[in-house]
Amino acid sequence: MFWRFAVSAILSVPFLSAQPHLEKEAVLGQALAEAVLRKTVPVDAASARDYAGRLADRLAPHLPPTGHPYRVAIVAHGDTPYEPKALPGGFVFVPAQLFLEAADAHEFAAMLAHAMAHVAARHGMSPAPAPDAVPKPMVYLGEIPGGMEAYEREADLLAVIALSAAGFDAGALSRYLERVRPDDARVARRINLLSGRPTRRPEPAVDDFVAARDAVRAALPPPPVRQPPSLYR
Ligand SMILES: [Zn+2]
Repeated sequence: MFWRFAVSAILSVPFLSAQPHLEKEAVLGQALAEAVLRKTVPVDAASARDYAGRLADRLAPHLPPTGHPYRVAIVAHGDTPYEPKALPGGFVFVPAQLFLEAADAHEFAAMLAHAMAHVAARHGMSPAPAPDAVPKPMVYLGEIPGGMEAYEREADLLAVIALSAAGFDAGALSRYLERVRPDDARVARRINLLSGRPTRRPEPAVDDFVAARDAVRAALPPPPVRQPPSLYR
C-alpha cells in the first residue's frame, strides 16, 4: 500500500527506509518537493488525489522498484501542465490540467505511468563515485531541461509495459501525446510501435475518472492574475 500525502502533510513525511542512500534520496526529494510547492498551487480535491493514488498503486508493481512509496499530489498552474512532475524519493505532482486534458482514465494513467517511470529509472540522478563494494549513492543532476530524449524514451517504454501489465490500454500514451503535443508526432509514432492491444478489461478504478475530474475542476483555484503589460515601460 503506497502513501498518498495530503499536500499539507508533505513536509512531515517520515522516512521508512533503513538504507542510508535511500534516506538521502528521500531527503533530496523532499527538499525539491518543497520547492515545487512554493511555485504551485495545491488542488484540494481529496477524492481525486485518492483516485490518482489508486492508479499509482496499480501501476507501481509493474515498474522497477524504487525503495520509496509513491506520493501523489495534485497541483494547479504548474510549469509542466501536461505531464506530472516526478522527483527523487517518489514524489509525483499531477497537474490539474492532466485531469482536464485526458480523454479517459487510460490516458490519465498513461502519463502517470510515464512520470512514475522517471522516478523508477532514477532519471536526473547519477551514481556518485564510491568503492565497488559500497552501494553507490545517487547525485541529483537537476531538472532535465525540456526532457532529455533518452530519458523520455525509456520512460515511455517502461510506461507502456506497466500499462499493459496493469490492465490499461497502452495505446493511450500515444493517443494523449498526439492530441496535446501535436508538434511532437515523432514521440507518438515511437510509442505506437511499442503499444500493444489492451490485455485485460478495464478495472473499476478506471470508471471513477470522470468523478475525479469533476472534483478537480470544482476545486481548481482561479489562475494567477498577471499584471497588465501597461504597467511596464
Ligand atoms: Zn517525461
